[in-house]
Amino acid sequence: MERGISLERAISFVQSEKKNLSLESIHLDNAYGRILAKSLESKVDDPRFHNSAMDGWAVREEDCLENKKTILKIVGVSEAGSNKNFQIGAKEACKIMTGAPIPLGADAIVMIEDSEIDNNNVIISGPARKTYIRRKGENISKGEEILSRGHFMDASSISLAATMGYEYIEVFCKPVVGVISTGNELVMPGKELNESQIYESNSFGIAALVKSVGGESIRYETVSDSLDKLRDTLNQASEDCDLILTSGGVSMGDFDFVRKLMELEGEIYFWKIKMRPGGPPLFGKWNKTPILGLPGNPVSSHLVFSMLICPWFTASFETNENSKPTLGRKVRVKMLNEVKGAPEKLCLRRIKITNSPDGLVATTHTHQGSGNIHSMVKHNGFTLLPPDTDGKIGDMIDAFWLN
Ligand code: AMP
Ligand code: MG
Repeated sequence: MERGISLERAISFVQSEKKNLSLESIHLDNAYGRILAKSLESKVDDPRFHNSAMDGWAVREEDCLENKKTILKIVGVSEAGSNKNFQIGAKEACKIMTGAPIPLGADAIVMIEDSEIDNNNVIISGPARKTYIRRKGENISKGEEILSRGHFMDASSISLAATMGYEYIEVFCKPVVGVISTGNELVMPGKELNESQIYESNSFGIAALVKSVGGESIRYETVSDSLDKLRDTLNQASEDCDLILTSGGVSMGDFDFVRKLMELEGEIYFWKIKMRPGGPPLFGKWNKTPILGLPGNPVSSHLVFSMLICPWFTASFETNENSKPTLGRKVRVKMLNEVKGAPEKLCLRRIKITNSPDGLVATTHTHQGSGNIHSMVKHNGFTLLPPDTDGKIGDMIDAFWLN
């Protein structure tokens, strides 16, 4: 077991236990937020055929070159979705709708606004433009690989997959992540509390974090601080899940049973990282399933998720930290308040990042204690202050913007 390691080293341990995810075929209706597991080659050209970008007139550019009114004979109307094939000759025009095929012989479009009909003729008073024709295959060629494995399916990607002819796509199965809170003091929200109890909150937030980065979560019943109860739940979770996240019980306290049980019966890769808050996480395996023990303090558990669990998802999905799903992104911000760093530790102070004419600026608004989950809601990011450095007013610093 390694102890007190850097965040980078901790990430490499966590990523070494990434899950080789199976694939599943899903309908496009269910594709939002999923990660493509098989690249998509287009089944069609886009556009499929030369078509008009405007409602107007398909004409021969050479007929309309003069800077004065041109009279052309109308030969018909080309509609989107119609199979009629039109052809025009010299001094002829075909009325055309946006998306309709270009008649043979036409090489330019005049906008409808630049025309006037006179019996069987149209009087053209504006420019005929070749650029108003959308050329077959100018966006995508049939057979071209357009979306690659690892691509995050957002709304435009879903439209693109449909454009290319896919009703079903192959995506990575969602990793199943178990979330287990531990602590004798914890009571479900909605229940009565006695003097020494508090509401259990971590499992709900962590389960939501799992979902927001593309996983499926199983929230187990809270485990009291007892080796036997914890062992039972870990055994169950290791059957059900690809990754186990516990909350609480990994510090130096007498009742920190996650750490104790892992020492006695599990396999620990590392304990404690050089980060504040979020120093005490523990990572290892329980019955062949990777397990990460998150600190119980709510802010710590959320921050450790951002820094250590997201990399497990990106490794499993074969994406990288800059592609979705992510919880946010690294940015440079200018501090408008002072924030204290930490000796020998990466320091994550909660900050509110806003746009200003000078670029991104950051302010602090609440008590920074690692027990104060309100600080995660009042702010929208956190500092990435290197060890032994403070953020002074006016300093440009690295930060993580949760968005
Ligand atoms: P621990 O890591 O178990 O020593 O817990 C550290 C602090 O976090 C204590 O104040 C606990 O009461 C609190 N805590 C632990 N687990 C949770 C939880 N699931 N929800 C809310 N607070 C918790
Ligand atoms: Mg505890």
